[in-house]
Amino acid sequence: MAKGQGSQAEKMPKAAQEARLTEIERVALDGLGDLRDLEAVAERAQTFLGRNGEMNRALEHLVDLPREERAEVGRRANEVKGRLEHAFAAQREAIEARLLEGHLREEAVDVSLPGRPIGRGRVHPANRTLRQIADIWAEMGFAIYLSREVETDEFNFGLLNMPPHHPARDQWDTFYTTDPQVLLRTHTSPGQIHVMRQRAPAPIRVVLPGMCYRYEQVTARSEIQFNQVEGLAVGQRITFADLKGTLTAFARRLFGAQVATRFRAAHFPFTEPSAEMDIECFVCGGVGCVVCKGTGWLEVLGCGMVHPTVLANGGYDPTRFSGFAFGMGPERLTMLKHRIEDIRYFWGNDLRFLEQF
Ligand SMILES: [Zn+2]
Repeated sequence: MAKGQGSQAEKMPKAAQEARLTEIERVALDGLGDLRDLEAVAERAQTFLGRNGEMNRALEHLVDLPREERAEVGRRANEVKGRLEHAFAAQREAIEARLLEGHLREEAVDVSLPGRPIGRGRVHPANRTLRQIADIWAEMGFAIYLSREVETDEFNFGLLNMPPHHPARDQWDTFYTTDPQVLLRTHTSPGQIHVMRQRAPAPIRVVLPGMCYRYEQVTARSEIQFNQVEGLAVGQRITFADLKGTLTAFARRLFGAQVATRFRAAHFPFTEPSAEMDIECFVCGGVGCVVCKGTGWLEVLGCGMVHPTVLANGGYDPTRFSGFAFGMGPERLTMLKHRIEDIRYFWGNDLRFLEQF
């Protein structure tokens, strides 16, 4: 509308058109360097160089001029357009450079700062002792036999010479499941039956490490879960002398070559005869102290010759085969070694305790 009316109403002479171009350039560049964001630059470029911008509107008047003048003004207009495009582009780059510099300053990483330390894990003290014990038995020719933690009443008690109503069952207050025949093992001994039934009549030398469970009141001395390492040797002509020699050799490897041992008579339903092995107190050297309660000896394991009934239940003829078995508690040994007063520390998940090992 403005175009038609403007071009016909009044003709704009060359000098006026040139003055207008000069004025457009002046206004377009005025304060351009002060613009601080890219949107403002884009807006100004649109105002002057856009399709309906000032430059294009000025060029509408070219038709008013004769041909030679038209070319001259047209050339002039192109020069102005070129300078404006260049100036806008330069300002855009300047703003981008400043933004980048700002980002770099804000997100600067100080590589000279020390890194955050990574907490280093380690083997749980109970497992460390367990592995140490397993290593010693492995050196002495005993294989490791892993057995299930969920057992039947038959394997946990019956086949180990503890029929229902046997008074020894009272020692093992038990976690039963909803099925009265299925329970959490109270000791690693049911593994003896499993391994004998698998290997009979071949000779056996194994240790059976693992977790056991008892439904007991938790105190400084007793926990509802604890590790045991059971051992079993079955063959022909195995005697109590073999038991004593083997267990003494083990004690010397674990506690030191000079350690003295003694065997005291005891009773377990699945061994006959049965004994408990003590070592000379390594804290006081046998003189008597708080750790050994003044006796000079520390009880470390229970043992005995495998009961003929248990051998038979495992598939061995007790008139031809004999064997010995033993069991110890790695947590108890760790407590003795490090003078830990309370067994609850082992499963308390307290890092202040665990980090000491
Ligand atoms: Zn002592």
